Amino acid sequence: MSLLVKGGTVIGPTGAQPADVLVEGEKIVALLDPSYPQTVQADEVIDAAGKYVIPGGIDAHTHMELPFGGTAASDTFDTGTRAAAWGGTTTIIDFAVQRTGEVVQDGLAAWHAKAEGNCHIDYAFHMILGGVDDDALKAMDQLVTDEGITSFKLFMAYPGVFYSDDGQILRAMQTARENGAMIMMHAENGIAIDVLVQQALARGETDPIYHGITRPAALEAEATSRAITLAEVAQDCPLYIVHLSASGALEAVAKARNDGRNVFAETCPQYLYLTLEDQLGAPGFEGAKYVCSTPLRSKHEQHAKDLWKGLRSNDLAIVSTDHCPFCFKDQKELGVGDFSKIPNGIGGVEHRVDLVYQGVVDGQLSLERWVETISTTPARMFGLYPRKGIIAPGSDADLVIYDPNGSTRIGVDTHHMNMDYSAYEGVEIAGRVGTVISRGQVIVADGNYHGRKGRGQYLKRGLSSYLV
Ligand SMILES: [Zn+2]
Repeated sequence: MSLLVKGGTVIGPTGAQPADVLVEGEKIVALLDPSYPQTVQADEVIDAAGKYVIPGGIDAHTHMELPFGGTAASDTFDTGTRAAAWGGTTTIIDFAVQRTGEVVQDGLAAWHAKAEGNCHIDYAFHMILGGVDDDALKAMDQLVTDEGITSFKLFMAYPGVFYSDDGQILRAMQTARENGAMIMMHAENGIAIDVLVQQALARGETDPIYHGITRPAALEAEATSRAITLAEVAQDCPLYIVHLSASGALEAVAKARNDGRNVFAETCPQYLYLTLEDQLGAPGFEGAKYVCSTPLRSKHEQHAKDLWKGLRSNDLAIVSTDHCPFCFKDQKELGVGDFSKIPNGIGGVEHRVDLVYQGVVDGQLSLERWVETISTTPARMFGLYPRKGIIAPGSDADLVIYDPNGSTRIGVDTHHMNMDYSAYEGVEIAGRVGTVISRGQVIVADGNYHGRKGRGQYLKRGLSSYLV
């Protein structure tokens, strides 16, 4: 089965060019110059005239079915990967979880059991380590060698749940330095935050906005700096800061990068578009819809402006979603009268490609940088390149035909995520995901869905391409 995507403009990290993309089976086999007389015959031809052809999106941070705060994220691997496909994402990297006291490999097996046979698009795993000890350190080596899991997430927040102390972090970093893995860090000072939370509740400050007020930007900057220092002590262990939201944290990352360190970071659409005052501070309990950690930041400070700048300068390498959806009814409502009981997370896996494209329309990013931050860099960062993240012969035929003359209105009535609200309700994007192709198969076209549950494959990953 061959497929020719004809007449479009192919966008890659190094530029845009008119090219026809020839697909044979699951792979891209050629990029053809449309001005050269063509004799190629294909079983199916897709007209991409006037459209952009980009590599399928890679969302490097999702939490399908994550148990949290007495409930679980509302998207399953089935519903969540289907929604991702609708939005032009053809690969996710989800977080398998080792809970404190659990064997790492058991946590991984549980995650495979949730995902296997249920995914609409390809998927890989990072591993959350909730209890760094001798066995967990040995497991890190085994996962890198045998399981294709080359990144491990630690938490400086959530004492008693996922929290690692500095000694545990240092030991995991030393192990990663040896085996080549990446340490991913949730960088917030959770010990100090828990004190602020208790003090706020004692004063009767129970509304959702206090979730943000008790997690100040300074405590993200402090934890980010501390993580960077610990990684330095671990002989420059590769470090990736997840969901970076604050200017001070970005400054710490930028400084480390200027010093030539193996320090990387991502941000998420919610920090580029939503704020502490307008969303988390919405009247009544509405703000619960926007409770996530790290929290939304104040619009009276420079955070969002700095994050866009960081994306341009590559101090922020990637835009991921931290997709962790909870319904308002019965889930977010667990925190009525006590913001600390609101499940933490925002769903957005369906909207990342569009929301970052809006940055191109708004003059924040170039087209090439759009493709880099949503696809090429995640592939390189997490050992999926060149199978994923690029339109080139030999790569998987994961393609999105994007219409810059279309438009998208985001809302709960039209989205496909298993959520009863949208964090981006009413947002208009000046572009539209048209056709989505995953390993040579058209899964979305003309507003119709042609994918199916179970077609997504587990991807074993290699080491990051960014390390020497
Ligand atoms: Zn997360």
